[in-house]
Amino acid sequence: MTHRVISPVNESVIATLEDVSEEVTDEAIARAAAAQAAWAAVAPGDRARLLARAAAAVDGAREELAALEVRNAGHTIANARFEAQNVRDVLAYYAGAPERHGGRQIPVPGGVDITFREPIGVVGIIVPWNFPMPIASWGFAPALAAGNCVVLKPAELTPLTAMRIAELCHEAGIPEDVFQVLPGRGSVVGWRFVTHERVGKVCFTGSTEVGKRIMAGCAEQVKRVTLELGGKSANIVFADADLEQAAASTPGSVFDNAGQDCCARSRLLVQRSVYDRFLELLEPAVTGFRVKDPAAEDAEMGPLISAEQRDAVASYVPQGAPVAFSGSVPEGPGFWFPPTVLAPVDPRDRVAREEIFGPVLAVIPFRDEAEALTLANDTPYGLSGSVWTNDVGRALRVSRALETGTISVNSHSSVRYWTPFGGFKQSGLGRELGPDALDGFSEVKNVFIATGG
Ligand code: NAD
Repeated sequence: MTHRVISPVNESVIATLEDVSEEVTDEAIARAAAAQAAWAAVAPGDRARLLARAAAAVDGAREELAALEVRNAGHTIANARFEAQNVRDVLAYYAGAPERHGGRQIPVPGGVDITFREPIGVVGIIVPWNFPMPIASWGFAPALAAGNCVVLKPAELTPLTAMRIAELCHEAGIPEDVFQVLPGRGSVVGWRFVTHERVGKVCFTGSTEVGKRIMAGCAEQVKRVTLELGGKSANIVFADADLEQAAASTPGSVFDNAGQDCCARSRLLVQRSVYDRFLELLEPAVTGFRVKDPAAEDAEMGPLISAEQRDAVASYVPQGAPVAFSGSVPEGPGFWFPPTVLAPVDPRDRVAREEIFGPVLAVIPFRDEAEALTLANDTPYGLSGSVWTNDVGRALRVSRALETGTISVNSHSSVRYWTPFGGFKQSGLGRELGPDALDGFSEVKNVFIATGG
């Protein structure tokens, strides 16, 4: 079977790919399993050098990769450049890991006790369409650094950049069987990673619904699994915050990547005493948000990924929805939806509860800190969030009380490769990135050596 890769910018067909079948997936997994011992045996310094060379190869192809992502995913050129650089940086960061991934020596009676970090074997990585490049690298770079072989399935809608990155890694000297990209269907290729006994770990990023199925499937073999799932993150603005700065940065916190971001702050919680003032400040920031051809240097937002996604997002803004203000979109083809602010929203409304994955912001007023926390935590998700206040005590108190994996104070940062990333509650299981990422791609082995005497 083949499938067509469509540009969301102008709806043209940009590639037609043969879907990888289950048989071809099995062959790829067998090749990965056969190559793994030799890859794990590559001296740590040499593995580090290969990863550093892969980082350099990606660096050299930054513009090419960015242009490809603009066409395939409709990302703005500025974002796409950042994403290609992120792959380079993640590879460079984990190039430092093989030579530092040590075990421990633990005091015991009667001998010497040491631990080793052993690779898992073959790791299957399943990637969504919203950030095709970075999310792939958050999995494959630390997995390779820890001595695993990787089979990676990009999303059906956005396979092109991952395929190119694999070529660049091979050109840099990473053997082909060590890192394979298999474009195909989730239910065929992705699911085979779950059921195949030679895949020791599945690293899944995507919807909570599919993530639950992956986790249940992995349970059959007690297979290791990392899940990075959906979110409904809150941006909490207290009356004592720098309101101008908070308002100016709000559009980026939810409309970046057209809202197709698991960390999107799709709920804006504003303290009642500054609610009117804050919306006044927010309106020009939203109406001025530049939604245009993503290839334009100054574009701030492009189209949604597909017609289905646009229709799903539109269902959250039916006739009569409380639209406070919205931005504009270009005329003509492409899957466009304007940045839209709904205010005030009842916290029980589906727009305040479900992950929309589009440029729709629900504004909810709150009375005091206690109510802000109750509202923010009243969700099955717990991925990200922001707190705006000039009271350092409150910033820390609220950060500690939020049931979420990543919090940003007076800013909207979420994923930084130096620091751990992942979700509380139904936003995921396990952590990616940061200094400890290799622990998630290895098993601890304990060895006791009797010293006698
Ligand atoms: P999705 O769950 O539909 O698909 C994700 C990937 O899983 C795709 O590659 C798909 O082909 C594959 N897949 C689908 N069904 C499968 C199955 N039965 N077995 C194995 N693989 C299968 O998600 P999506 O629509 O591509 O991405 C959007 C979702 O991803 C959102 O919910 C978003 O919040 C989430 N996301 C989370 C993070 C995070 O780090 N927490 C990051 C980005 C996106």
